[in-house]
Amino acid sequence: MSTGPIAAFNFVGGDWVGAASGRTYQRENPARVDEVVVTAPDSDAGDVAQAVQHVADGYHEWADRAPEARADVILRAADLLAARAEDLAVELVREEGKTLAEARVETRRTPQNLRMYAGEALRLFGETIPSSGDGLVLTLRQSVGVVAAITPWNFPLNIPSRKLAPALAAGNGVVFKPSELTPLVGQRLVEALIEAGVPGAALALVHGHADVGKALVSDPRVGAVTFTGSTAVGEAIHANVPPWVRTQLEMGGKNALVVLDDADLDLAAEIVAKGAFGLAGQACTGTSRVVVHESVANGLLDRIMERARGTVVGDGLSAEVTMGPLASLAQQEKYQTYLEVAADEGARLETPTHGSAPEGGYFVRPAVFSGVHPGQRLAQEEVFSPILAYLTVASYEEAVEVVNGTGYGLSAGVVTNRLDTALRFARDVDAGVVKVNQPTTGVAMNAPFGGLKRSSTQTFKEQAGPTMMQFYTQEKTVYV
Ligand code: NAP
Repeated sequence: MSTGPIAAFNFVGGDWVGAASGRTYQRENPARVDEVVVTAPDSDAGDVAQAVQHVADGYHEWADRAPEARADVILRAADLLAARAEDLAVELVREEGKTLAEARVETRRTPQNLRMYAGEALRLFGETIPSSGDGLVLTLRQSVGVVAAITPWNFPLNIPSRKLAPALAAGNGVVFKPSELTPLVGQRLVEALIEAGVPGAALALVHGHADVGKALVSDPRVGAVTFTGSTAVGEAIHANVPPWVRTQLEMGGKNALVVLDDADLDLAAEIVAKGAFGLAGQACTGTSRVVVHESVANGLLDRIMERARGTVVGDGLSAEVTMGPLASLAQQEKYQTYLEVAADEGARLETPTHGSAPEGGYFVRPAVFSGVHPGQRLAQEEVFSPILAYLTVASYEEAVEVVNGTGYGLSAGVVTNRLDTALRFARDVDAGVVKVNQPTTGVAMNAPFGGLKRSSTQTFKEQAGPTMMQFYTQEKTVYV
């Protein structure tokens, strides 16, 4: 299906506009690279400065609205997005490359996010502090001001929704920069919020490349930066943002699934395939290492290979396809690079004969490497595609050492039938998300989300939990 390119626009000062320079860029369909899906403004620092100025000047009107009025607007946006979920899922497939089934999960989840965060507008409670005499000491929580929201392409609707909705619920203004790969889907979220009644002065959208993000995070009028993306970019942002600007950086992972000697191997293989090949391996929580007890290593590998062979690669709009393309040429090149890295390191590719990937898009096949050692690059670096490092260990203790032996700490899983071992694993691993007999991917929308070590900043978690709305509000202590 091709409907011709759609024009995306920035949203600045309440108007849909192009970049001041007039420049645009094109985003192709990763499954059909000849097809341009969207043209978007190629904005620069000047466009960012204008957007921030408008929001800094104008968000107060939104902040001053009654909490229930802000909640109502966000709930209306949720209804609009729910009504458009199927169209959005198709656009998501065409722009980003997921399968339709995967896209539907995202377009269903997004309105649910909005509904959950709308309620937070009504729960921005302060405290009263015991004090002597006739006075009263209390804490007051208010919006931060201008929030910069910078997001990746791999969940281009869901991740922005869990930043924009809580930020707006708390009465902030937001300047949003979606990934350059997914301008259209990012824009759809803003359209729904504006149509629902968020004032144009409280929300801005600026499309473009990394320079847009750089200009946004270094603007002195920004009070909070919420970023999801790679560890390299997150660390660069952290180094450049002054200490009084709060940052929430959700970054990369090198997630491991441990399969112990008592595991149900069919279940384990199912979990591995879902975590490693689902979303074409392009989930921050994707399984990129399997750490398996030597006594079951062969049996598990056979079962994983069966599932790798059964993967149907192609355009995610086709019903039979189970794995869409990678999102970009850069992703495809990175995949190739890691095939070479693994071969140079002496790892054995277990999947060479499983059919080549289709032509015309950024298609690749699942790749499983055995004989990988914990210190090698394939076992240490985030690959972000369906390449699995298969590592064998002799004991539970060795498994934990391998899992914890990287700089990342996002998600880790264990497959075991022993509850005591599962609970011990949850305590022993350096990971912000721990899964028992479940894929490393997939998290509950109302559970706190964030990693340890180089995967996240540690101050404010995303999604839920006590620190989630603290990020979007600042606290004052008031003496009366
Ligand atoms: P990325 O390259 O780090 O980009 C993320 C966002 O930052 C994009 O909007 C990007 O703009 C922008 N950006 C790039 N350089 C910047 C700079 N110097 N200053 C400010 N903004 C800048 O990541 P990606 O390739 O889009 O996404 C994949 C990564 O995201 C993976 O590492 C994955 O693990 C991580 N991720 C983490 C989570 C999590 O919750 N922990 C969830 C999803 C994804 P452009 O698009 O224009 O370059």
